[in-house]
Amino acid sequence: MSLPQGYYDLLERLERPGCAVCSLLLEVSNRFIESLLYEFSLDPGTQRAFRAGRGLCNHHSWQLAGQHGYSLGVAALFEAALDEVLDILQTTPEETLTGRFSRPFGGDARSPVAERLEPEGPCIVCANVEHAEQTYVRTFARHWHRADLQRAYRGSSGLCLPHFRDALRQVETREARRELVAIQIEKWSALRRELNQFQIKSAYNYVGEPIGAEADSWRRAVASMTGLQNATAALTRPE
Ligand SMILES: [Zn+2]
Ligand SMILES: [Zn+2]
Repeated sequence: MSLPQGYYDLLERLERPGCAVCSLLLEVSNRFIESLLYEFSLDPGTQRAFRAGRGLCNHHSWQLAGQHGYSLGVAALFEAALDEVLDILQTTPEETLTGRFSRPFGGDARSPVAERLEPEGPCIVCANVEHAEQTYVRTFARHWHRADLQRAYRGSSGLCLPHFRDALRQVETREARRELVAIQIEKWSALRRELNQFQIKSAYNYVGEPIGAEADSWRRAVASMTGLQNATAALTRPE
């Protein structure tokens, strides 16, 4: 059986610190944003997507705007978004433009033009990242029985909680899920011991071994429970 590229991406990422899926997603969003600016800022399809999305989500809009040296690309893409909202405001009939309805059972009043100003679809970077997330988790789960993946996983930081949950939902057999849970328990128990050491050694009257690798355990604990910073930013997750 030939293995998908995603499998090799995962194996390679498991050798680096942090959740492998999160780390790959950060790369996916970075690459996608770069390509929007470097290649597609004048592409009609991309411009349509910026019109429909009123730009990108807050997080990815600012990530885009933070790319040095490409302010002209940002200008072209956000001009399209601005043009669209102006178009909506200028073509909506007066009646609809200024109308407002209260809802029968309370809640926020509705303004028809405000509804029209809502994005027509998800942020295209979020959608891209979400697709990659599903693909990587599926690849991980489908090949979890392989010895090389399990070996790499044992030596890794482990998946973050959101991606561990996703993987558990997709790993096929009870035996395979048992193995995944057992390794995860080892990883999180080790992290908890590090957190504990960090707190003991940080006490003002502590005498003994200086703080070592556990110095950043608090940061790794945050990443472990919520995913790497900005990796899954504005994504909606299953309940
Ligand atoms: Zn993750
Ligand atoms: Zn986004």
